Amino acid sequence: MPEQDPMTTGQEKGLAQASRGAVERAGGGGGAAAPVRRSLLPAPGQGFGVTFGQMFKKVTTEQYPETPKVTKPRYHGRHVLNRHPDGLEKCVGCELCAWACPADAIYVEGGDNTEDERYSPGERYGRVYQINYLRCIFCGLCIEACPTRSLTMSNDFELADDNRGDLIYTKEQLMAPLLPGMEAPPHAMRLGEDEKAYYVREPEQGSPAEPVTAERA
Ligand code: SF4
Ligand code: SF4
Repeated sequence: MPEQDPMTTGQEKGLAQASRGAVERAGGGGGAAAPVRRSLLPAPGQGFGVTFGQMFKKVTTEQYPETPKVTKPRYHGRHVLNRHPDGLEKCVGCELCAWACPADAIYVEGGDNTEDERYSPGERYGRVYQINYLRCIFCGLCIEACPTRSLTMSNDFELADDNRGDLIYTKEQLMAPLLPGMEAPPHAMRLGEDEKAYYVREPEQGSPAEPVTAERA
């Protein structure tokens, strides 16, 4: 910190700084050199040249919403809560998505399944599930955190509204529709052998979940 004269007033300091800046702008203080002109045309001619150049380029105006916009296949849009092939929900109410969310946009309350009232194949299911699209930044970290692949993202980007309340999506809005062959929960598990294996997620040979034995080590 350079020593300053305590008697120097703020006005004097301001004047000194202004005169120093003027010297630098004039190239006398070692500041940035003036830009080199690369065209022989005067400045107005260069400006109109840019305008004329644009007139002959392809117009990129989007005719949205008359012509729906097609996104890239992996576009991060509105979330979907998926189902098993028998209609049961994949969400087990673990809240990992909510913990992973950097914007605190997800709210989950888990509930217990019973044999008489089963919504998912696990012990628990997502009783309350909300995503606040006023907060969501569509980063996809919640998708990465979900252990059951319940939560995925669609390509739907039309999420505008005229009030805040309607941008908090509920579980009913986020659930995937029932496809042919699916039954609305609650109901007992009706998975075939293949899907059962998928649900239980037996570790595959050589997967990291398999314990490392002496022979393999
Ligand atoms: S996409 Fe990102 S911000 Fe949006 S809910 Fe998921 S983790 Fe949160
Ligand atoms: S969506 Fe996935 S991570 Fe979120 S509560 Fe359900 S199972 Fe857990």
